Amino acid sequence: MENKFFFDKHHEELKKVLSIFTSKHRALLDVEREDEDQHALEITKELASAGLLRLVVPSSYGGAFETPDVRSLCLAREKICYMSGLADLMFAMQGLGSYAITLAGSEELKQHYLPKVANGEFIAAFAITEPFAGSDTGSMKTQATKDGNDYIINGSKRFISNAGIAKFYTLFAKTDPNAGNKGISAFVLDADTPGLTIKKLKLISPHPIGELEFNNCPIPKNKMLGLEGEGFKLAMRVLDTFRASVGAMALGMGTRALDEAISYARNRILFNKPLTDFQAIQFKLAEIATELEAARLLVYRAAWLKDQGERITREAAMAKLFATESAQHAIDEAVQIHGGSGLIHGAITERLYRDIRATRIYEGTSEIQKIVISNQLLK
Ligand SMILES: Cc1cc2nc3c(=O)[nH]c(=O)nc-3n(C[C@H](O)[C@H](O)[C@H](O)COP(=O)(O)OP(=O)(O)OC[C@H]3O[C@@H](n4cnc5c(N)ncnc54)[C@H](O)[C@@H]3O)c2cc1C
Repeated sequence: MENKFFFDKHHEELKKVLSIFTSKHRALLDVEREDEDQHALEITKELASAGLLRLVVPSSYGGAFETPDVRSLCLAREKICYMSGLADLMFAMQGLGSYAITLAGSEELKQHYLPKVANGEFIAAFAITEPFAGSDTGSMKTQATKDGNDYIINGSKRFISNAGIAKFYTLFAKTDPNAGNKGISAFVLDADTPGLTIKKLKLISPHPIGELEFNNCPIPKNKMLGLEGEGFKLAMRVLDTFRASVGAMALGMGTRALDEAISYARNRILFNKPLTDFQAIQFKLAEIATELEAARLLVYRAAWLKDQGERITREAAMAKLFATESAQHAIDEAVQIHGGSGLIHGAITERLYRDIRATRIYEGTSEIQKIVISNQLLK
């Protein structure tokens, strides 16, 4: 169901582009492959050819809008994720991994990185999480020590999407180890920097990801983003812009599950009638559809508010929390409606069941979203 009141004419145009993109590339998108890095790179090339990566970069550097149009980001993620979690990841990471450069990079850095993010030549990544600092970012240990014209990086990062295929990492490290969040600074680290080693991780569903280890990695000081000590604020600004869109991508997966469940239930005959004739099944479908619609309203309200220039800390947290939890529920019920067939390796529901799980963990777990929302209520 469309919520037309949140959209302008250019969003309607974008929806058409997205429909054409997903139908044209269905064979590339609607599948899982063992060679996830290669698959990710092929998808990125097509996202770039269709002009979709331009949505995450400002128009002065080859992008589509001067500031990100959050409704467009959400629409793109919802439609792409309906077909492929991996394609959504490649789309989203170009934005998440480069937006700190847009916000706080020097003109030289913007000129160097952003046009190549928009045309898919450079794959971007965002590196903040560490083995002992996930939700508790302030306790990160990776250190950036000033040495002449460089900062020398030592430490490690974990769960970094695009590790191993990224051309550069937006890296967060401590320039003052005793100042908590206020001691964090942001840098651009090129993937070929000496002293950087990468170990790949294999997750529950296709997702290029890994650990980074820094052993005296030099970063020239002109690759710092913003000022010393302002890295945490910058990371929060980036995450705030993209958080509602995580809700949108979950919606894409939840909606696919609902469609799959309806189609299966219509065709499955039990006790001499289609499964859709049983009220227990009808009620499941009604509940899933209602939750997804409520989530859609939260997501596009947050996106619309952001596009009006409002701060959306509370709204984006609610949208991410409710949409990811609702999509998880929708997918679980879709598996239930499919019975055993929903769990066969290769079934869409089985793929969605694995794909959705991480969305309640990354970019702030569900528990962290509740902390953000309650802090706003109680302040
Ligand atoms: C698929 C995937 C991709 C990712 N991509 C990236 C990436 O590209 N870049 C990056 O930097 N990171 C990335 N991450 C890391 C992700 O952001 C972290 O996993 C997340 O922030 C949680 O951190 P953690 O895993 O260390 O869990 P922890 O922080 O250790 O949390 C463990 C549990 O404790 C709960 N918890 C924590 N604090 C509280 C509290 N105060 N009150 C109540 N409960 C609490 C959490 O909700 C969670 O349930 C990715 C993770 C995944 C799974």
